[in-house]
Amino acid sequence: MGILEGKKALVFGIASNLSIAYGIAKQLKAEGAVVALSYAAVHEKRIKSIAEELGSTFVEECDLSNDDEIDNLVNKYEEKFGKIDIIVHSVAFASREALSGRFMEVTRDDFRVAMDISVYTLIAVVKKFERIMSDDASVVTLSYYGSEKVVPNYNVMGVAKAALEAAVRYLAVDLGKNGKRINAVSAGPIKTLSAAGISGFKSLLSSNEQRIPLGRNVDIEDCGNLAAFLLSPKAKNITGSVIYVDGGFNITAM
Ligand code: NAD
Repeated sequence: MGILEGKKALVFGIASNLSIAYGIAKQLKAEGAVVALSYAAVHEKRIKSIAEELGSTFVEECDLSNDDEIDNLVNKYEEKFGKIDIIVHSVAFASREALSGRFMEVTRDDFRVAMDISVYTLIAVVKKFERIMSDDASVVTLSYYGSEKVVPNYNVMGVAKAALEAAVRYLAVDLGKNGKRINAVSAGPIKTLSAAGISGFKSLLSSNEQRIPLGRNVDIEDCGNLAAFLLSPKAKNITGSVIYVDGGFNITAM
């Protein structure tokens, strides 16, 4: 029996079968969870076949920058499943211009959008789904080391990830009073659609590999394994944490 047997999950952020959210959704299913999906309209074509593969019967479009759309999604989910046990937030966005060159050149508008989509959407989802969360519900979001140290070209997304990790701690206290949990998985770099938007990402991947204690980059299956554990009762006393799956990269200085 899997560690998520009988759990009902909703996964945000599958854009393709390269997405970290896809790796997580696969693992949740493998561990026995019923996996529902919510996606951004632009990825509609790809999501259908992925939903079939995952046996997902609840597949709903939702623009997370729109509160009314999130409210609708909560109502639809409640209608079909009643309560929710697991939420995966694997969502971020920054304009291509903001992900190259000098950080300080970021425009007010690009900063606002990056923070809204990459940070506030987590808060909005937690706030709106809280009403239908089961007593031991658990949430996972995705972060990156650029929240702590300067990674070339990561720029505004580094600032957003720092805010996201802080939000996880504050949300953990809010949710914890009722026994619910939230954690962040901090993944090493992985080639996905979003990552391709970061200038110089290819060379980051290859230069990283030489510094990683385990000598290899991570993949979406690694993220899935860690997320499945954090979302399971086996992690019942872990909340508000940022847990790395990066081959040990974060412990090194050179
Ligand atoms: P991805 O492009 O596959 O996923 C990003 C997702 O965000 C997409 O599915 C996109 O539709 C969704 N999204 C953006 N705006 C949205 C909106 N308004 N409403 C709903 N969904 C929206 O890329 P990914 O690399 O799998 O990214 C997933 C998460 O993992 C992000 O938070 C990213 O910052 C984080 N992360 C990525 C890496 C990496 O190297 N790829 C490393 C660490 C953390």
